[in-house]
Amino acid sequence: MKDYIVRATAANAQIRAFAATTRELTETARAHHDSSPIATAAVGRLMTAGAMMGSMMKNDTDVLTLQIRGNGPIQGLTVTADSRGNVKGYAINPNVMLPPKNGKLDVGGAVGIGVLSVIKDMGLKEPYVGQCELKTGEIAEDLTYYFATSEQVPSSVGLGVLMNKDNTVRCAGGFIIQVMPFIEDEVLDRLEANISKVHSVTEMLKDGHTPEEMLEKVLEGFELTITDTMPTQFTCNCSKERIEKAIVSLGKNEIQSMIDDGKTIEVSCHFCNTQYHFEIEELEDIITRSK
Ligand SMILES: [Zn+2]
Repeated sequence: MKDYIVRATAANAQIRAFAATTRELTETARAHHDSSPIATAAVGRLMTAGAMMGSMMKNDTDVLTLQIRGNGPIQGLTVTADSRGNVKGYAINPNVMLPPKNGKLDVGGAVGIGVLSVIKDMGLKEPYVGQCELKTGEIAEDLTYYFATSEQVPSSVGLGVLMNKDNTVRCAGGFIIQVMPFIEDEVLDRLEANISKVHSVTEMLKDGHTPEEMLEKVLEGFELTITDTMPTQFTCNCSKERIEKAIVSLGKNEIQSMIDDGKTIEVSCHFCNTQYHFEIEELEDIITRSK
């Protein structure tokens, strides 16, 4: 099954809903960094949320960044997404190993206590930045808390990544349910009762539920309208030119000292781990051109 995002409304648009299957993009991120199961689960959950939240943005050029910084051994996670289902992400420490907690990957333990930042660059002078403290470090709860406190949109976020025994990704996906300010009390009560019955996204994925089926389950008893479906994928837009810009931003003194060391340099992309190689002459060129 290819990765895709489904967008839907229910109860006469009093509820809006998103669901996604993201096994391929999570496996792509895992393969780029050969990341541990916990790091893969953490990045996969955040990328799944990022893909759905990206699809909430209006313009093709809008960029969403989700950043987590915590005191746990994974140190942090960064995900960026656009409005067309392109998403990428990485963990600062992709090799984290921790013993399981209650038989599950201890993502909360790997992330620790910290801060979630949501940055939306919509081409305005200043990007929108929303921040909140991490609730559990399990990511779905943290995003639920973020939506409630920072965007004032009551939401329920469910995210799951299940690994195979050989440490590849077996399934990944999730949902975001949001209620509109004009929601009727009885609709909200029924929704809350539904959500309290949903034990785990991972279980639904394991049972082979598609995004549509996940929404049917979470929104059982509501009239559900699927508004659209779009593919989502791991996409990295790095290039030698972009890496060169990053080198330029180090400043002339720093570049000169690399030249003086007489060593060619290797820079790898944080997101996709592609190695970019710069010869001494190329570094000299960069200095000349940045004068
Ligand atoms: Zn890259």
